[in-house]
Amino acid sequence: MSRPVVDHTNSGQQSVNVIYLDNNATTATDPRVCKAVADAMARGPANASSQHQLGMSARHQLDQSLAVIGEVLGSDLTRVDAARLIVTSGGTEANNLALNGIGDPTAPIVVSRIEHPSVLALAESMERSGRLVGWLDVDSHGVVRLDSLAELFANLPTLPALVSVMSANNETGVIQPIADIAAACHQAGVPLHVDATQSVGKVEINLSSLGADAVTITPHKLHGPAGIGFLWLRSGLEIRPSLRGGEQQLLTRPGTEPVAMVAGAAEAVRLAVGELSKSAEHMNRLRDRFECGLLDRLGEQAIVIHGRQVSRLPSTTCVSFLGHDRQQLLMSLDLAGIACSSGSACSSGSSPPSHVLMAMGCHRDEVQSVIRFGVSKFSTAVEIDHSLDRICRLILGR
Ligand code: PLP
Repeated sequence: MSRPVVDHTNSGQQSVNVIYLDNNATTATDPRVCKAVADAMARGPANASSQHQLGMSARHQLDQSLAVIGEVLGSDLTRVDAARLIVTSGGTEANNLALNGIGDPTAPIVVSRIEHPSVLALAESMERSGRLVGWLDVDSHGVVRLDSLAELFANLPTLPALVSVMSANNETGVIQPIADIAAACHQAGVPLHVDATQSVGKVEINLSSLGADAVTITPHKLHGPAGIGFLWLRSGLEIRPSLRGGEQQLLTRPGTEPVAMVAGAAEAVRLAVGELSKSAEHMNRLRDRFECGLLDRLGEQAIVIHGRQVSRLPSTTCVSFLGHDRQQLLMSLDLAGIACSSGSACSSGSSPPSHVLMAMGCHRDEVQSVIRFGVSKFSTAVEIDHSLDRICRLILGR
């Protein structure tokens, strides 16, 4: 997915091709997804709540798209008393809906210290408003510690309303022990929300057997459209709405459903799951080629690759270039035609130091010099080799 850089400076310098290695922030939309959205839009006005034939047709299309997402992710949504998929504006809203809407709002809530800002900032704001928040610690590899969960269950004054843990971290790619966390939650009778934003399309996810009560899904991370997301709820789980308005989605999330975007999301999830083994193998190969190239050329003393000793997504490299400043590096890499990030995309504007690396107990120099790279199914070996040339030239100063 190389793109020519637009030369904003008008300096007449030759432009370089941009190599997109920021696929944890968002991904290029798969052309087949663009077609699914365009086809759905071309069908005409589509308000799934309208009572005329066009409305009923839109409703049918919406239900079909949702059923496809459920089916490919292992959850039959068509049964009576089935699990539900609530359409939201994205992962951020789905996470907010889960944390605000599940369980007793006066009971404590438990979240891990490495969650995405859409969970962390909300938990911090709840804490400021007087709600008790239990913070789950991680080990030095970035894996949530089960003993920290047991300690919180034992020491909080009442059992929490909800535990929220992501399935894989967006900065390090480190996969979390969701099965063990789910077992502990269920034994205690506490619902579990899992932010699976980074996992779908990269590792296998089965909604029915994950052990979660609620799961966040975000199609723009898997070559689908941005501006749409889902909160999956297991059968029978009650949720309070965050928004007030019409009666759509059984009052849990009012607003006209984006039928065409849901069609695109369904196509994206269908393709991501159907092509998973091929694309995961491809990403894994490129990620390893990238990391081995960095280690070979820069030397083991010069860089730290985080989470390398534990289970990680096949796509993500989180690397500290010791002695360098991440902000300056990011700018230089951008000028060199490499799109990457120094943390989660939401914070790349202001870019505070990574809360994830800090929770892992990383040394200050590691936090100061960290850059995140993410490949996708569209990345190529040639792009990786060109990236290595550009990065190593920058780091080595020649
Ligand atoms: N959760 C995780 C783990 C993410 O990586 C992101 C996006 O970066 C989100 C939630 C937010 O998703 P969205 O951009 O759809 O609001």
